[in-house]
Amino acid sequence: MTMRRLFFFPATVFLVLAAIVPPPARADILLQPGLRLAPAEAGSAPQLALTLDACDGGTDQRIIDTLLAENIPATIFATARWLKRNPDTVKLLLAHGNLFEIENHGARHRPAVDRPIRIYGLKAAGSPEGVRAEVDGGEQAVAAATGRPPRWFRGAAALYTAESLKQIASLHQQVAGYSIAADGGASFSAARTEREMLTARNGDVLLAHVNHPEKTAGAGVVKGLLALKARGYRFVRLDQVQTEELPPKQRMLAAPAAPVAAKMPDSVTTPTTPAAALTPERTGKTPLEQSAEGTNRPPSAPPPPAHTRLRKPPAP
Ligand SMILES: [Zn+2]
Repeated sequence: MTMRRLFFFPATVFLVLAAIVPPPARADILLQPGLRLAPAEAGSAPQLALTLDACDGGTDQRIIDTLLAENIPATIFATARWLKRNPDTVKLLLAHGNLFEIENHGARHRPAVDRPIRIYGLKAAGSPEGVRAEVDGGEQAVAAATGRPPRWFRGAAALYTAESLKQIASLHQQVAGYSIAADGGASFSAARTEREMLTARNGDVLLAHVNHPEKTAGAGVVKGLLALKARGYRFVRLDQVQTEELPPKQRMLAAPAAPVAAKMPDSVTTPTTPAAALTPERTGKTPLEQSAEGTNRPPSAPPPPAHTRLRKPPAP
């Protein structure tokens, strides 16, 4: 090999590799808003808000029965779909309007994210028009079912973009974050859910699910509620108290990169980047440590099952 060839060989290899190896995927930054209760008056009992998402599916009667028996108020975030499929529960909730407030969880349980991606296996609304359809459709369904337009909105997966948050505010819905995701999207065991519930402190907004009667997490919600009540906590609905928004946490979801423009010599096809996996969020947590709808507490147990994790976005 001549000196000239020796000089050009590494450069050629570099050029070929640069054309073959895809560039890093562009990261979509999603936002997870937080919410707490404003401090209660001095001397009053410590208070918590229980928010229950009713995404789709059925009713966890264990939780509803406990709330009724123990006189514990809750804010239910219901989708249009769930309202339609659970008419008897809706009647029951409305018959106990002193305990239950029904708010907007969207029309079809599509994350209110204006980009065509998948989050925890859910197809996002995908565009500003899609976000609007999700918010408006849920609002109309709640208003029709309850006779009162909802004030709060929590999108599926409780993740948004900066743009979709602005859009939701322009639709006169207040985004409901939370401070503790107690049941990991209903994927946690009863014992872990109870443990997560018991991390609650004065002012926390708890998130759990009321649409998974088939899962064990609901039993943990019940045990946690009873224990928190026994510890002297008072439960309030979001429409009964002042709240404080916490700065949103950033979650990064790698999106497909744009096709590489460079042309390979000898007509070698340039690959496009396949769908990429979730990258660690800026807090340094690994994807496996991130629970389905997040938590403000450090993770202390194994990750939720695959169906609740952020999944690969669809091929472009
Ligand atoms: Zn949901």
